[in-house]
Amino acid sequence: MTDATNKAQCSFCGVEKSPEVPLISGNNGMICEGCVSLAHQVVSSWGRKKQCATMINSLKTPLEIKEHLDGYVIGQDEAKETLSVAVYTHYLRLLNQGDDEQDLNADTGAELEKSNVLMAGPSGTGKTLLVKSLARIIGVPIVIADATTLTQAGYVGDDVDSVLQRLLEAADGDVNRAEWGIVYIDEIDKLARTSNGAAAVRDVSGEGVQQALLKMVEGSQVKLTKGDKRRGGEEVMIDTTNILFIVGGAFPGLDKIVSERIQPSKRSIGFSASNMVSESSKKSNNELLAMMSPEDFQMFGIIPEFIGRFPIITFLQELDIDALLRILQEPKNALVRQYRQLFKYQGVKLEFTDAALRRIAQKALDRGTGARGLRGIMESVLRKTMFDLPSKTGISTCIVDEKEVNDAAEFIVEEILGSSEEMEHNHASHSHDDDSEMVLSNKN
Ligand code: ADP
Repeated sequence: MTDATNKAQCSFCGVEKSPEVPLISGNNGMICEGCVSLAHQVVSSWGRKKQCATMINSLKTPLEIKEHLDGYVIGQDEAKETLSVAVYTHYLRLLNQGDDEQDLNADTGAELEKSNVLMAGPSGTGKTLLVKSLARIIGVPIVIADATTLTQAGYVGDDVDSVLQRLLEAADGDVNRAEWGIVYIDEIDKLARTSNGAAAVRDVSGEGVQQALLKMVEGSQVKLTKGDKRRGGEEVMIDTTNILFIVGGAFPGLDKIVSERIQPSKRSIGFSASNMVSESSKKSNNELLAMMSPEDFQMFGIIPEFIGRFPIITFLQELDIDALLRILQEPKNALVRQYRQLFKYQGVKLEFTDAALRRIAQKALDRGTGARGLRGIMESVLRKTMFDLPSKTGISTCIVDEKEVNDAAEFIVEEILGSSEEMEHNHASHSHDDDSEMVLSNKN
């Protein structure tokens, strides 16, 4: 027997043991480093396959996604439909990717591009809410980041990789899940460059971040640390190619850019009236947003390469009083429902007259912060009652109403004494959602 026959070999690839190629021995064989890492890749792809299998079973159609969104977001039909289709197509594309990351329909030569979405619309109109509600139905990890907190790597602030770090945490450290997640970056309009010419000062929080984000959106390998860095967390690579990016912003002044681009005589072209939340005085703003195009964002100060990575552009309408009224009452976690629940815990029924609700909505409209202002107003209307109520006994119902005092309308909260069972009985035949009916019967 020669020496060669006795040489230890990798049982998988046959490479011989040498100082450069150490082998790990098992009970009946040996393995080299190359085969260990190959095996790791194969095992990781099993995880992805399993994930695919569960997602295929549960991937909702655009209609189902939209119906789910309807439960949380009022109006904004255009944005809901666009997002539903974008998300459906995105995951359909991922689920049909072959094991070797080749599209199944490669025979047609069509490589499906990623459907990243850009949402423009005033503050407080439901952009973040839409994304949060989406992630809930798709069941993928999601991270919501604010563009204003990001800076270019190496400068004070969070660099863009921190967004992926948070996505990995949202995926419980599972790289496969994180690579299929959704990243939403809010306030993207704040990254607009301030001038069109060459900047004398380095723009590390504006255009610099756009450039850094661009790399991430295009698809890059980013090294992250899983777990606590200080305790020697494990280093992992995350590939951003399949992450769905959604960006949103208010883009103040975009309507003016659009109106400058289009001639007044062409204003009606391409405008879809059916999507309007209402015929409010803000209608023209909404009309203009409906006509925006990628060039308008470029004029706004977003670099063309960045816009190019967001092929799907949608807009959210300014909310009018009727939309705000619906937002107060209709969504699954509507404010009126939330406060009712809070009062119910204390054995008290909370009711609102139509006039009171309308006034709350009107006040929010005057603040100009969309639906975001509603909670603050509600809080101030009910503050005193919520302070006093726990120390009082015998109150069965509180009715929030509006009253004229010295020619000015004011909120009043009427407290009605009685046992709650008695009130239950009185209202057994009334719908909980119909405030006006309930209040009338209370007063009887
Ligand atoms: P933004 O467009 O600035 O991202 P958000 O989605 O954060 O606005 O909205 C702020 C809050 O206002 C939400 O948490 C939600 O309660 C309410 N809201 C805004 N728009 C809507 C809407 N269209 N339907 C229901 N609630 C809404």
